[in-house]
Amino acid sequence: MPQGKPAGKVCIHLNEHLLCELFGQAERPKVCSNFSFDIEVCGTCREQALQNLDWLEVNTAC
Ligand code: SF4
Repeated sequence: MPQGKPAGKVCIHLNEHLLCELFGQAERPKVCSNFSFDIEVCGTCREQALQNLDWLEVNTAC
């Protein structure tokens, strides 16, 4: 995604198993490689993670 991934859009590198197709490859964006699991962001399940991301996008927009 040369222009960056817009908020709310699914990354084109997320496969049908919800896994990153670039995992372990040099092409994987640094922001992704540098991210470590954080309970405040990820929650305890996919639904919580999506809710947390929605909240962050709404409440931290410039
Ligand atoms: S880790 Fe990064 S590159 Fe991989 S699917 Fe997620 S957003 Fe896309």
